[in-house]
Amino acid sequence: MAGYDLHTHTTFSDGTTTPAANVELALRAGLEGLAVTDHDTADAWQPARDAAAGTALEIVPGVELSAELSGASIHVLGYWFDPTRPALAAEMRRLRNERVRRGEQIVARFNELGIPISIERVREIAGDAPLGRPHIASAVVELGAAADVDEVFGRWLHDGGPAYVPKYAVDPVTCVQLVVDAGGVAVLAHPGLYGPDDSGLDAGIVEAMASAGLAGIEADHPDHSSERRALYRDLAVGLDLVITGGSDFHGDRKDLALGEVATPRAQVERLRARLRSPRPQAPGGPAGLDRERFSM
Ligand code: AMP
Ligand code: ZN
Ligand code: FE
Ligand code: FE
Repeated sequence: MAGYDLHTHTTFSDGTTTPAANVELALRAGLEGLAVTDHDTADAWQPARDAAAGTALEIVPGVELSAELSGASIHVLGYWFDPTRPALAAEMRRLRNERVRRGEQIVARFNELGIPISIERVREIAGDAPLGRPHIASAVVELGAAADVDEVFGRWLHDGGPAYVPKYAVDPVTCVQLVVDAGGVAVLAHPGLYGPDDSGLDAGIVEAMASAGLAGIEADHPDHSSERRALYRDLAVGLDLVITGGSDFHGDRKDLALGEVATPRAQVERLRARLRSPRPQAPGGPAGLDRERFSM
């Protein structure tokens, strides 16, 4: 399948494959473009570009930023921004630093639960990557307390689980503004996977993000049912936002293939066009959005 996979992780966050390996997988899948969207860092951009040099594959530089609203996590994808812009760079640095403190708290929770993982080992597993729950889950698996990462999330690490500690995150409107002000476009990641039991994101929040310059919605995600995909495609159309898709590839940590979900080139070009005209919204927002349909 052609198109662009606009959501992949590497060893620069909590994926298990290098940027070069993602490039190789993208070429083998016959993709036209590949985004590297590690959590809270742009460190994979250069290695991905180096690996794709001389091939027909376009690298879309990206990030998946940690946002939250009233304690609920929201992910914002950013593309083509300048990672050296001070406001965004400082915020990403803070997000990464706070992940270490939160990692220590989660390790302490596991220790209280009788699972003796150490923060030293977790930091070794993460390497230079922003420390995330999957690294901690790998340490638990290594100890033999669970068969795989999925079991660790299912028993202890899921949102609200016994070892869960929320992480510091930005509010989603600020997050969109930071990306736009750094010269990029912002896309709401997997809107169907938020809230209790993945009930989804309230349309009011998406509208607020749209007013701040949000460019797209990742309606196509492997963990969205076909109903969810249709719902968020409609929301994107209603708010005049670009519909995107990506695999959210994490290497061995998730059971799916890079390129399994992709964005058609025409949509990527619409997204790119928003770089030149970031806020096409009419004041007051588009009319006719059926709020009832999109509320949690
Ligand atoms: P964090 O950013 O540290 O809160 O970790 C979030 C990451 O954990 C996500 O990007 C996923 O890669 C992973 N994750 C979240 N829920 C699960 C789950 N139920 N099973 C496996 N991985 C998960
Ligand atoms: Zn991840
Ligand atoms: Fe995410
Ligand atoms: Fe992701």
